[in-house]
Amino acid sequence: MKVVLASGNPGKLRELAQLLAPHGLRMLPQSAFGLETPPETGTTFRENALLKARHVSRLTGLPALADDSGIEVDALQGRPGVYSARYAGEGASDAENLRKLLADLQSVPEEARTARYRCVLALVRGAQDPEPLLAEGTWSGRILRVPRGTGGFGYDPAFLPDGLEHTAAELAAAQKNALSHRGQALRALADRVGELPGLGGGGRRRGSGEPGRLFVLAAPSGAGKTSLVRALLERKPSLSLSVSHTTRPQRPTETNGREYHFVGSEAFERSVAEGRFLEHARVFGNYYGTAREPVERQLASGADVVLEIDWQGARQVRAAMPACESIFVLPPSRAALEQRLRGRATDSAEVIARRLREAAGDMTHWNEFDYVVVNDQFEPALEDLVHIVEGRGEALFAGRPALAPLLAQLLA
Ligand code: 5GP
Repeated sequence: MKVVLASGNPGKLRELAQLLAPHGLRMLPQSAFGLETPPETGTTFRENALLKARHVSRLTGLPALADDSGIEVDALQGRPGVYSARYAGEGASDAENLRKLLADLQSVPEEARTARYRCVLALVRGAQDPEPLLAEGTWSGRILRVPRGTGGFGYDPAFLPDGLEHTAAELAAAQKNALSHRGQALRALADRVGELPGLGGGGRRRGSGEPGRLFVLAAPSGAGKTSLVRALLERKPSLSLSVSHTTRPQRPTETNGREYHFVGSEAFERSVAEGRFLEHARVFGNYYGTAREPVERQLASGADVVLEIDWQGARQVRAAMPACESIFVLPPSRAALEQRLRGRATDSAEVIARRLREAAGDMTHWNEFDYVVVNDQFEPALEDLVHIVEGRGEALFAGRPALAPLLAQLLA
């Protein structure tokens, strides 16, 4: 399940991605959707975190996570609070804000300089989610007269956490995360993510009124995608496979309406013009397309749907339905791919040669997908697909470092 992070901060994204990956959540930055943070018009951290999360969810159609944080100083009756980032004025730098805070506290004695950082995280499943998940963290300390340290950000150089001799700006990042308001809020959120029905594959039940999940599976020709999908459907009978339309001639083993709906070019083009396809593409000289209506109807009824399409179609589906989960299947080596393509009796030598060339091109699109499954041995690859469908595919995210050597070989 994808969650958009309503923040432009790459550091936060990395931290969140690590903490939430074990829960099957994949964090995407709001910048991937060209979004910026909306004005923080709330008067509490909760209000601001929620309004940011709902805003991003409204614009992306995806679950969204936002945080709001700041520092409350007792001698200033809780200020700067929600205004921490703009205490010295709109667009003020960290240094300007800190300077103003120290000036305001100049006459305040040591014992009265108590303060606390607070962070609220809000996770919404949709813009109107009536039950958002909120998690909070608090980090108490006091404000020094002279700032120390260069780490962290905001008021960290002047914030001396209770029980420590170093300011927040003098702590190593890992140490700060273990103690800080944000680290606490993150761990509280991670602990409770499993409680939210509708997030992750495990929590949703058919008939619950929630829409189904859409899985998009692509692969270069010869990666073994079709056999894997067939076995996946046997393992997970709740999944339904969308039957595509194509202008390709029917093979002797195929039945119209089972493998494909075989149609003429004219009928295909008419459907394109009428907007009946969720996606369509030209593959190996023929047209292929996914009819929109049956997919939308099945998803609305709560059924999970699988599309077995090429990378061009996958790209269109991701744009139209960003909540879809896309999977790319790779062969274990270039040699294995060639062998599999040659071994297929149904196509001519010319077709095979062309498919080899096209497979190499197709594979360059691997990183547009959420997950990558390597079909080295059939059963483990099938198990990987089952994990993804069950919302436990975090070890198969496309960006995992273990894929690097294989990709270097396949794309060389
Ligand atoms: P084949 O003709 O061998 O069954 O399929 C050729 C390619 O077309 C495969 O990569 C398959 O995934 C892709 N394909 C099949 N149906 C669709 C579809 O509806 N849309 C798109 N974009 N590609 C499809």
